[in-house]
Amino acid sequence: TVRVRIAPSPTGSLHIGTARTAVFNWLFARHHNGKFILRIEDTDEERSRPEFTDNIMEGLRWLGLTWDEGPFFQSQRLDMYKSAVQKLLDQGLAYRCYTTSEELDTLREIQTAKKEAPRYDNRHRNLTPEQEAAFKAEGRSCVIRFKMDDNRQIVWHDLVRGTVTWKGSDLGGDMVIARAADDGIGQPLYNFAVVVDDIDMQITHVIRGEDHIANTGKQILLYEAFGAKIPEFSHTPLILNKEGRKLSKRDGVTSISDFQEMGFTAEALVNYMTLLGWSPPDSTQEIFTLAEAATQFSFDRVNKAGAKFDWEKLDWVNSQYIHTMPIDKLTDMLIPYWEKAGYKFDTGRDRVWLENLTTLIATSLKRLQDAVDMTKVFFSETVEYQDEAKAQLQQESSITAIKAVLAVLETEQELTETTAQEMIKQVMKEQNLKKGVVMKSLRSAFTGEGHGPDLVQSWLLLHQLGLDKSRLAIAL
Ligand code: GLU
Repeated sequence: TVRVRIAPSPTGSLHIGTARTAVFNWLFARHHNGKFILRIEDTDEERSRPEFTDNIMEGLRWLGLTWDEGPFFQSQRLDMYKSAVQKLLDQGLAYRCYTTSEELDTLREIQTAKKEAPRYDNRHRNLTPEQEAAFKAEGRSCVIRFKMDDNRQIVWHDLVRGTVTWKGSDLGGDMVIARAADDGIGQPLYNFAVVVDDIDMQITHVIRGEDHIANTGKQILLYEAFGAKIPEFSHTPLILNKEGRKLSKRDGVTSISDFQEMGFTAEALVNYMTLLGWSPPDSTQEIFTLAEAATQFSFDRVNKAGAKFDWEKLDWVNSQYIHTMPIDKLTDMLIPYWEKAGYKFDTGRDRVWLENLTTLIATSLKRLQDAVDMTKVFFSETVEYQDEAKAQLQQESSITAIKAVLAVLETEQELTETTAQEMIKQVMKEQNLKKGVVMKSLRSAFTGEGHGPDLVQSWLLLHQLGLDKSRLAIAL
């Protein structure tokens, strides 16, 4: 059976790139009825934080990328890595290297001067016990290096990139697999721990970002050293910014929790991420659930080229979800944004009013967070007049219109959509004003804006708060 994994390092919040890799893993696992495993790569004690682990797990759950096994924590598996290192040492496939960082710097300088690619020159590969003892006596610390075969050609058939060939001599010389500790073997390095884990967890397909492609060459040599079955590899295209470079923190928002805060729904975000590098067989179909995508997913339809991140497209996908959402559900989703903005209301008592407010803005909403600005005027006592509204309210015709509406409002028992429309007509006729003038005057007085959602509905919402008359009076 297919077994895949996502292996984030908790050194930051769940990044969109990691999440997209998780999407592809999840889709592949579901398509093949396989298992999706979560492994937290937290061996870097200095940079790993439990709050990032929480953020990553919450993010994956929120997106619906539930895992079948795990979370496994590398920090709890150190003994396993140590015995794996020991095994390689015992077999003579790894060795202790005492080269100091100064010596490595010098080596790099020489190589750079000769315009050679920096690599370790394997100088401590065959130390005698006496030499080792001498280095130790000097007080040098050591790392553990794995012997790389420079004459090897490493070839794999990548599910996205086709045949990939790597020269052993291009892998940087004998690689460090673990640091040393006072008691022997210390912290394992990424390329090593990942292979030990992928073997132990019987991972059949390693699906990860293209930035790991050079690591795959190194890792294949480790699989061979352990005599383990080599999994299939799939290097997925990177997510690029507008300039065509890898999307990074400098591009602003990149973590899933930020997208959530901005008001992208989980379904829309995951839908959009699925389209970052993959397209369904019917490539005109752009809106689908994860489950639908899973039935159609294959690496044949994953692009080699990087995928440009497109905010407009994401907004469009998000609005597709928002616009088809039942109003009560959308209201539930907007409430936290309104609460966070400090708007005061009673979710129980004001429910009908809140749902009407949601209806008012639903079709022009792209991101849930936009609802905060769009509805501000319904939650504040005062109105800020924009220039356009100010100019409108200074006109003689506006003053006439507002005074007339106020006068009719005094006699009106009940305000409904119908009576509001009738009032507008009555004022038009009696004062000989154009409809546009009356409407614009009312909008300016009620909201302080020149444009906005349906005027009569906005009026009704303000009326229910008992704010419509006072806004008209203040505008005069
Ligand atoms: N911890 C690695 C990362 O976050 C995992 C890469 C892999 O999937 O092997 O990029």
